Amino acid sequence: MKIFCKLLGHTWVHQSKDPKISWNTGKSLSELHLTVDGEYSFWLECQRCGERNDSPTSADVKAANN
Ligand SMILES: [Zn+2]
Repeated sequence: MKIFCKLLGHTWVHQSKDPKISWNTGKSLSELHLTVDGEYSFWLECQRCGERNDSPTSADVKAANN
């Protein structure tokens, strides 16, 4: 933790990752198959020291918005 974060608290910013979605043709070539690679994830990250909060509570998110 940086001294700044220690004194004033973390500066949380929203981070999110979308899953990669790709369409592939199957054996028949007439059908499209949806492949989702990974899950949608959301976390908070401190802009200054990079500390992550992987499971922010609604209170954490609210604090990050202010
Ligand atoms: Zn920090």
